[in-house]
Amino acid sequence: MKMREKCRKKITAYCKKLAAKNKLCLNLAAALLCVYIVLDKIIYSNRYLLARIICAGFVLITFVSEASFAPMSFDDGSYDIDNYEELVLIDSTVAEDEAYIITEVSNEEDIANLEDLKDNLTDETLTDEVESNAEFDKNDWKLLLVNKTHTIPEDYTFTLGTIKGSMKCDERVLKPLYDMFEGAQKDGYNLTVVSPYRDISRQEYLFERKMKNYINKGYSYIEAYKLSSQAVTLPGTSEHQIGLSMDILCDNYFNLDSGFGKTEEGKWLAENSYKYGFILRYPEGKEDITGIMYEPWHFRYVGVDAATVIYENNLTLEEFVENL
Ligand code: ZN
Repeated sequence: MKMREKCRKKITAYCKKLAAKNKLCLNLAAALLCVYIVLDKIIYSNRYLLARIICAGFVLITFVSEASFAPMSFDDGSYDIDNYEELVLIDSTVAEDEAYIITEVSNEEDIANLEDLKDNLTDETLTDEVESNAEFDKNDWKLLLVNKTHTIPEDYTFTLGTIKGSMKCDERVLKPLYDMFEGAQKDGYNLTVVSPYRDISRQEYLFERKMKNYINKGYSYIEAYKLSSQAVTLPGTSEHQIGLSMDILCDNYFNLDSGFGKTEEGKWLAENSYKYGFILRYPEGKEDITGIMYEPWHFRYVGVDAATVIYENNLTLEEFVENL
């Protein structure tokens, strides 16, 4: 009897501890408790033995199948958030802009065209940047590599320029952007900026919101982090935060999806953006290098010289920077 009591205490204490962690653990604890109660009854009673064995078997099968299909995790909360990065599937391909993917751009405030760009150009931003054929410098702001493994340097600063209203980007990119839009218009295409600079706090907010969502669904912290990072770019790893990237669509296609690449405007951008210093940052077929799915709408400013080399050699920024 002493043994039975000892066992009961141990099991209930363990179940209580387990149940306190999260919803998933609570379910597991409840199932474990059921298994224990049935087994306890079988061991310490000899009545209706067969019925009890069948019942125990049923509970046990349910428990095992539930446990093996559920995302198992018994995180004890001792992990540090920085360590999670290593646990994230770095090789998984995600959408850089997934959190922002909009099915339809209907709000006039959220898009900017050539006219808007022209309205906001000032004398200072109008001056063309002097490009040279000098050797490329890894520390050049234009070549700053930002991805899942290269976070934005803490001391990185830049001045924001206005595209339109609250739409901003690095002010040094305003003129090249304007020139590109003007070039497109000359060829008969009307481009629109839909998502330029994004504030880090917004990125953090989106990431945390996603994390909370997963945790509330019963996932552990570690699982939630892993899943969130596949849906929202980790704070500090989005090029949109350095104001050098923007999502560009046109006046007759409003979806941030691969279909944009098939439009005449999408094709024009892919073929001509380098002349203005922009590159198609996440090309098709390079997903394993960039870690981001094909995004025909996402363009990054790197300067005309680098963009030309990248375009002519079919490189990604990762490959270009690596060879410097
Ligand atoms: Zn983007």
